[in-house]
Amino acid sequence: MFTTRFAPSPTGYLHLGHFFSAWTAFSRARAERGVFRLRLEDIDPTRCRPEYAAAIVEDLAWAGMFWDGAVRVQSRHLVEYGAAAERLERMGLLYACFCSRSEIARAQAAPHGAGAVYPGTCRRLSAEERADKMAAGLPYALRLDVGRAMAGAGKPRFFEESEGWVTAAPELLGDVILARREVPTSYHLCVVHDDAVQGVTHVIRGEDLRDSTHIHVLLQHVLGLPTPVYAHHRLLTDAAGKRLAKRDFAATLRSMREAGETPAGLWRRVGEFRAVA
Ligand code: GLU
Repeated sequence: MFTTRFAPSPTGYLHLGHFFSAWTAFSRARAERGVFRLRLEDIDPTRCRPEYAAAIVEDLAWAGMFWDGAVRVQSRHLVEYGAAAERLERMGLLYACFCSRSEIARAQAAPHGAGAVYPGTCRRLSAEERADKMAAGLPYALRLDVGRAMAGAGKPRFFEESEGWVTAAPELLGDVILARREVPTSYHLCVVHDDAVQGVTHVIRGEDLRDSTHIHVLLQHVLGLPTPVYAHHRLLTDAAGKRLAKRDFAATLRSMREAGETPAGLWRRVGEFRAVA
């Protein structure tokens, strides 16, 4: 059964850009007579707030966008994500990274540095160096060893609706963090786990997550999970061409509603955007 989802992080109120994303997935699910699921990606307690989570559910319901089944709330499933991280660790695909943000920034900026990608400093630590740092109680995060994971995964591919078959290039993002001390999992791991748990056959989301898809497809391969079809849509921008962000309060569904906008008006707006896109 065609199944897609909308998976916002409750770090602020929904704005028109989110609504466009939700609407794109929702309309497609309805056109396919499929399933539309809602998931709240609230694993980061430093950025997510329960009042935003409640507001997302309320705003979507007000807008007349109904989802199938229960809302999946990620913070209630940390044990599952921890188990997935442990599996990867047992496969030897994670390594401890002790680098601070500033150390990483310095290494990236160095001549021949890796640009925005983690330069792999801690991947090259000897077992002894690693044990010493652990014994000294240094804080660390667990990173995915992309090179090693790729070596065992062959050449994973995914179907992107606008492009056709794409060979995964997870080196675009490199050795991403899959777990931290404060949050024992990460966006990448939770998304992959939950898309499988929720039976998602089509991931429809903004093109800002296009590079992440390459990591997700690799994780699906090593964890033995199915790879959905992907469709990355364009992002809504403001009149100046700047991407809408949560800080642009003027465009939140709440403020629009307070200013007298109706659900029908909202649907017209996103529909018109698609018509001219
Ligand atoms: N939670 C992510 C966000 O709000 C979206 C995740 C996804 O669609 O895969 O940007």
